[in-house]
Amino acid sequence: MNEHDSERIAGLLTADGYVPTEEAADAEVVVFNTCAIRENADNRLYGQLGRLRPLKMANPRMRIVVAGCLAQKDRGLIQRRAPWVDVVVGTHALPSLLELIRRAEAEGPQMDVREYTEIFPSALPAVRGDRHRAWVSVSVGCDNRCTFCIVPLVRGPQRSRPLGEILAEVQGLAASGVVEVTLLGQNVNTYGRDLTVPGSGSRSRFAELLRAVDGVEGLRRIRFTSPHPHDFTPDVIDAIAECERVCEHIHFPLQSGSDRVLRAMRRSYRSERYLSWVRRIREAVPGIAFSTDIIVGFPGETEEDFRGTLRVVEEARFDSAYTFQYSPRPGTAAASFEDQVPKEVVQERFDRLLTVQERISLERNRAYEGRTVEVLVEGTGRKGGVQGRTRTNKVVHFEGTEAPGAFLDVVVERAHPHHLLGRPVPAWDRRGRALVAAG
Ligand code: SAM
Ligand code: SF4
Repeated sequence: MNEHDSERIAGLLTADGYVPTEEAADAEVVVFNTCAIRENADNRLYGQLGRLRPLKMANPRMRIVVAGCLAQKDRGLIQRRAPWVDVVVGTHALPSLLELIRRAEAEGPQMDVREYTEIFPSALPAVRGDRHRAWVSVSVGCDNRCTFCIVPLVRGPQRSRPLGEILAEVQGLAASGVVEVTLLGQNVNTYGRDLTVPGSGSRSRFAELLRAVDGVEGLRRIRFTSPHPHDFTPDVIDAIAECERVCEHIHFPLQSGSDRVLRAMRRSYRSERYLSWVRRIREAVPGIAFSTDIIVGFPGETEEDFRGTLRVVEEARFDSAYTFQYSPRPGTAAASFEDQVPKEVVQERFDRLLTVQERISLERNRAYEGRTVEVLVEGTGRKGGVQGRTRTNKVVHFEGTEAPGAFLDVVVERAHPHHLLGRPVPAWDRRGRALVAAG
């Protein structure tokens, strides 16, 4: 979501005549688009602002902007701690960015941290980092109140974009050479619940959205993130199974394998229900890859709770996992829970989880050895080779000269926990499959 918003910030500035620079000292405007999900993001912002201060002193025309979730959370504190910041622009106020910069030039420091999104950031011009893959926001905000999470406080309640607007964006992207879109929402399963469509009640329309996007000509791959296990529904499984362009990969955040901890997190599914979704999805979509999010050291997590997480991880056999050490966030319920877990205990559990997951990731990837996979080229990988991605979201490295946006078949030769090594199928062995270079 931050990358999506950063593309909009770049779009607004470019439309106003600014050009990018690699040198902070040359910049007329420096924008920090911030994240507040864990504490280290806070620390990093204030460190960066401190480093920028001498440049601002040497170049008083430089405007420093702090945008994003931390701007929404810290508000006036930012300019109190770093009075050389010119503009603080919250998550709902992005469309006013240029106006705020102009006002800062004339009147001094500005702040807009309004509480309601009137114009979706998606409606703003964008400068995308990638010509072939794009983020598409389907909703902003979240109606849940997971006790660890700051998102609802800084992004507000869920607001879905009308289906027609999303489709128009995707059609425009496909026409401009984009071959892969990732639909973004904090809880994509509840997409549309807040849209009042006469006669439709407040049902989720996510499966309908997937099917509509699947019909867009020119698109080759559709991804989405994140579905919440509590709101998951069988019609979404059917849509994944039936829609040709929807990729065989699902990011399905577990958070914890202990029912006691899930309850304390206010995540209203239980480990058995979670696992039964995993089984059903695998049955309907053979070969689908799973990734997940897991928090270690949530307040009150015991060794037994943690073993519950390891048990679910072993059973679910995720292809990959984003693992996080619990970080107390101001304003969230869990931050005031008394039984915070000591840092060294969290670290020890975190390391154990990582070891288990690395083993499983490697085992899952080994199943690819010897197989031919369709890869979308993303760019130059390490050691000068080519980096691409399978439909199942596996990163593949291989020797070649293919340009980003190209699709080709690659034989996987060797698996690592986080990537695969392969070699392109020679042109004479592609059995008539055309090498498609997009854009
Ligand atoms: N909406 C998504 C969901 O419900 O799964 C999560 C979005 S959140 C931006 C991404 C991930 O950050 C979460 O799934 C969670 O694992 C992690 N996270 C959120 N708050 C956290 C906290 N206070 N400490 C550690 N990890 C956190
Ligand atoms: Fe945060 Fe996701 Fe829970 Fe919403 S559903 S509160 S974004 S973790």
